[in-house]
Amino acid sequence: MSASTLRKAKKLVESGNVEKIEDGLYQIRSSSDPEKSYFVTSDTCECPGFKNFYKFHHGKKLKANCSHLEAVRIFMQNSD
Ligand SMILES: [Zn+2]
Repeated sequence: MSASTLRKAKKLVESGNVEKIEDGLYQIRSSSDPEKSYFVTSDTCECPGFKNFYKFHHGKKLKANCSHLEAVRIFMQNSD
């Protein structure tokens, strides 16, 4: 995971863009477009970056990641 992904994720959490809908389901407002939001679980995200990940890294046995998924992880750690 890149440092910029982590930086973006922290920013999303700090600016209150992460909202818990229910256990394991979160809604994250896009930092670039406030009209847009993504539903995120602990291991999937709706954003194009996440969906494209497997297209670009097919067969490399990597786990897809994006700033939203990472933001949910940080959010969960903070709320414990
Ligand atoms: Zn995402």
